[in-house]
Amino acid sequence: TKVTEYIRRAEGKTLFSIEIIPPLKGQNINELLNSIEPLMEFNPPFVDVTYHREELIDRVGPDGTIERIPIRKRPGTVGICARLMERFKVDAVPHVICGGFTKDETEDVLIDLHYLGIDNVLVLRGDAERSAGVFKPKPGGHSYASELVTQVDNMNKGMLLNAETEMSPTDFCIGVAGYPEMHFEATSFDSDYAALKKKVDLGANYIVTQMFFDNQKYFGFVERCRAEGITVPIIPGLKPISTKKQLHVLADIFHLEFPLDLVKEVERCASDKEVRQVGVEWGIQQCKELLAYGVPVLHFYTMGKSDNVSQIARGVF
Ligand code: FAD
Repeated sequence: TKVTEYIRRAEGKTLFSIEIIPPLKGQNINELLNSIEPLMEFNPPFVDVTYHREELIDRVGPDGTIERIPIRKRPGTVGICARLMERFKVDAVPHVICGGFTKDETEDVLIDLHYLGIDNVLVLRGDAERSAGVFKPKPGGHSYASELVTQVDNMNKGMLLNAETEMSPTDFCIGVAGYPEMHFEATSFDSDYAALKKKVDLGANYIVTQMFFDNQKYFGFVERCRAEGITVPIIPGLKPISTKKQLHVLADIFHLEFPLDLVKEVERCASDKEVRQVGVEWGIQQCKELLAYGVPVLHFYTMGKSDNVSQIARGVF
């Protein structure tokens, strides 16, 4: 079932959903699945699974020379999707990324997903390799998420990259990312909204936002999107803060601002256990306001731990 169909059927009632990250290469998948099991109480119709690119890692060879080899630290997105569907009877929403893939490799991944019975994909550019600093597509790959939206949309129309091959059309519902506090590489808010509008005009059916801790940022974002003629559902992405360090780490990685009130409360905490509780309380307030605003879904970045998200969901649903 498509994410947009779940939203339509809910008739204005807010849904609950989560994103999970594949475990580090070689770790046990059951731990991850067990850790999110308690969240099934809140009936997520879909669960997102992130995709991770290969990173260049230095390896010392037997003769002492250092080799740089590409390693995907968190493989398994497609397999995890299959396990989620089987165990929890939810729709799995794999993320698909441009970084590290040629268009042909992407086409093969999309065919795998289609054969698995997956109805939704969240289409992203992906981040730069840590060692490179700036995003570079793999030769023969896409430079922007909008190009990958077009590739998926073409498959939905029955078109493969090699026009001589016929295919039965896919029917993926396409999600894309939006940034209430602007994507850090955008030269201006105007250009970032134009890039988002382009993704929607090319076929995206819904938007999921980057995390934010100040609802005003989300409300402003939705208003501006509507003014730009972007009419698709805009799902807020949420993450409860859980350690003091995250005040800096999340701000740096995701380029967001924490509201001063939250910063003060976190800084007053004597331990991360207390920060986790502050995160839950802040999350409940944030979600109550978002519910009153009528958001289609409350979508949580769980990062593999569910107790704080459970507490928030229990506090608002
Ligand atoms: P794009 O939409 O391509 O935009 C990237 C930048 O280019 C923006 O600054 C935009 O303004 C600009 N731009 C777009 N088009 C043009 C153009 N034609 N000319 C000039 N500039 C342009 N990363 C992962 O690796 N795996 C994941 O699973 C993953 N999941 C995510 C889920 C969500 C909900 C979000 C919000 C992010 C996720 N990310 C993930 C991170 C994401 O890959 C990064 O934020 C990445 O830097 C941008 O991806 P995008 O799809 O928004 O890129």
